[in-house]
Amino acid sequence: MRIDIVTIFPDFFRGPLDYGIIRRAREAGLATIEVHELRAFAHDRHRTVDDRPFGGGEGMVLKPDPIFECVEGLKVASREARLAGHARQSVVLLSAQGKRFDQDKAQELAALERIVLICGRYEGVDERVSQYLADRELSIGDYVLSGGEMGAAVIVDCITRLIPGALGNEASTRQESFTARQQLSDNDRPSSTCGSDGLLDYPHYTRPADFRGMLVPEVLSSGNHDEIRRWRRRSALEKTMRNRPDLLQAAVLNDEDKRLLAQIEGKEAAKGKNYVEPHH
Ligand code: SAH
Repeated sequence: MRIDIVTIFPDFFRGPLDYGIIRRAREAGLATIEVHELRAFAHDRHRTVDDRPFGGGEGMVLKPDPIFECVEGLKVASREARLAGHARQSVVLLSAQGKRFDQDKAQELAALERIVLICGRYEGVDERVSQYLADRELSIGDYVLSGGEMGAAVIVDCITRLIPGALGNEASTRQESFTARQQLSDNDRPSSTCGSDGLLDYPHYTRPADFRGMLVPEVLSSGNHDEIRRWRRRSALEKTMRNRPDLLQAAVLNDEDKRLLAQIEGKEAAKGKNYVEPHH
């Protein structure tokens, strides 16, 4: 996989790309990541990459010309070929107005051969970049960052660890939070633990078993794999219900899950029995 990042702050990426899995993937030649300084594509003496917005208003806007020239120099496939899926490449504009980047999108991008990430700054990027150069706009979440660099680093991190061979243990990307069952073949399904099927991951513990009186749940040292699997599933359901109930709608739940959910809901209802809803 080759990833190119277009930015006015190339030094920003010293650090985020130099540790752990990303570093190892780069060293093993699984991912080639190059950072391009946008100012190198400006033509005036001051290397100007931004200008005032047409129509007036606050702030500055990144000009289209340096961005087009930079990306054209990278010799990616045409926008048409990328959009039609004839080229396993994507030119992505980081944008708060983009489609939400999530684990599904990470999987989709990790299957490509080449990705270009364009980082915006200031009030944003001239819209023609999105209309005629990029084939998608991605947002890393419903909040406004001051630049696309953090977003690009997030996307590179998520994608790189999905490249086959990047993680020591392949199975570990498959049973994580958000990973849907559809992505797992039966052979892939880990035996002693459960795939997350769109739920959040179950809680993890390691030694010591007794840390200042805080104990690891006994079932995890029981050696009873069926019990452990059930406990993990129940914990994943519980945590998803508490922190991300929205995920339950799309999660793949079997009869046992539904029974566990009903139990959990029953417990929660019992706990809240004496609670009086405040009047608004
Ligand atoms: N005026 C814009 C925000 C510009 S922030 C708006 O209201 O939508 C400047 C740059 O930061 C953007 O061009 C984009 O590249 C990046 N950015 C901001 N929020 C982001 C987000 N949630 N995800 C990805 N990139 C983001």
